[in-house]
Amino acid sequence: MPTDCLFCGIVAGDVPATTVYDDANTVAFTDLNPQAPTHVLVVPRAHFTDIADLGRDPEASAGFLAGVRGTVAHLGLAEFRTVFNTGAGVGQSVFHVHAHVLAGRPFSWPPG
Ligand code: AMP
Ligand code: ZN
Repeated sequence: MPTDCLFCGIVAGDVPATTVYDDANTVAFTDLNPQAPTHVLVVPRAHFTDIADLGRDPEASAGFLAGVRGTVAHLGLAEFRTVFNTGAGVGQSVFHVHAHVLAGRPFSWPPG
């Protein structure tokens, strides 16, 4: 686990966060700078840089998707948007893969 990774720090409990769901493979916590009434980040407990990196590990990928499902089920969300920013050029700022789960307002398409 990289010692300088913010989300590894949250998973380890070393960095404070408001956890809304967790299971054996994933932790979900509220985004510090919410972009919707519900804005949760779902992260795998293990460190992967981004969704392409995670996708190399089918077992971890399945566990992570189950964690996203567990999070939205726990929050009672039937409709939500998920976003994975991959690369600084499209807005990734924390290089530990995370699903943004957003809900509670209208969303336009295509995204900005
Ligand atoms: P991204 O820009 O896609 O990498 O998303 C990173 C997200 O992490 C942003 O939406 C930030 O608001 C959020 N964030 C940064 N630091 C924290 C933190 N300590 N706790 C919760 N969310 C955070
Ligand atoms: Zn990490």
